[in-house]
Amino acid sequence: MRRCELIRVLGGIVAGLRPRRLAVVAIAVFALLPIEVSDAGWLPDLFKTSSKHAKSPKRAKSARQSTRPAKLARHRAQPKHRATRLAALGPVALPPSVLKPAAARCDPSTFRIVLDVGHTAESEGAISARNVTEFAFNLRLARLIEERLKAEGFAETRLLLTEGRARPSLFKRVAAANNLHADLLLSIHHDSVPNKMLEEWEFEGKKSHFSDRFSGYSVFVSRDNPEFKTSLLFAELVAREMKAQGLQYAEQYSQAIMGRYQHPLLNKETGVYSYDELIVLRKTSMPSVLLEAGSIINRDEELKMDSPERRNIISSGVASAVKEFCEPRWALLGPL
Ligand SMILES: [Zn+2]
Repeated sequence: MRRCELIRVLGGIVAGLRPRRLAVVAIAVFALLPIEVSDAGWLPDLFKTSSKHAKSPKRAKSARQSTRPAKLARHRAQPKHRATRLAALGPVALPPSVLKPAAARCDPSTFRIVLDVGHTAESEGAISARNVTEFAFNLRLARLIEERLKAEGFAETRLLLTEGRARPSLFKRVAAANNLHADLLLSIHHDSVPNKMLEEWEFEGKKSHFSDRFSGYSVFVSRDNPEFKTSLLFAELVAREMKAQGLQYAEQYSQAIMGRYQHPLLNKETGVYSYDELIVLRKTSMPSVLLEAGSIINRDEELKMDSPERRNIISSGVASAVKEFCEPRWALLGPL
């Protein structure tokens, strides 16, 4: 049933309801609205940033695109008449628990999430403090996330492994994700530092490099992605899950010391940054998010990232975020 049809039906039901039932229906209708209607009051800092960057023509285009209803799992929302129907229900005091970011519902068995394994066997990304490639870390974590998602019923989850040199591989992975008609893309990476910050040490008799200066996860979105708002919604869910597990986000990306790696921090509570020019985030046609799961150049954190415990925490957190993203909002209605 399309949403406008549902709301029309609800409108009819509302007329014959007792006040308490009326409030329940009003809450449910509100929760079913797409994010452009129901996000008022959610992430205020973040949308300030958006309005600032919407000034340039290119950004204005992104902002315009981002007001489209969330494209989720082939269920398109229909925006017509929503505001008037909502107004007809009158003001309702909504508890914060109901004001979660709204997503259109999706069916886990058909919802296709692509897990993009960052880098390639030929171009392995960062090298850890103990000389293990980032690609190896990315692949191991992505495989565990894939396993978790499939166990949760997301049967269409796909691991995206790309070959070749670094830059061409970025376009290959974008084309692959677009051809797979993915509903969501999550790119898995592990973090390092700019070369100028590296220090030397010896590990197993070999000259190696490290930096213990920074640690933590970070989550990136591109404001140039055609589904920016939905990307952001998922990024927030992932970041909140990481935070809920007691993990800290990497704060350095908002600092000038990072030079060209400095990025706008969209939410200072959760650690969601924008990284607008990142090809895998901006050229993909579906909502796309990049997770730097943790630092492998930091000697302590590398050991944690190498542990089954940390991989479990992160993969469970991602699976919970996907479930929440996909959660059917209809359940709020309950028996009428
Ligand atoms: Zn990477």
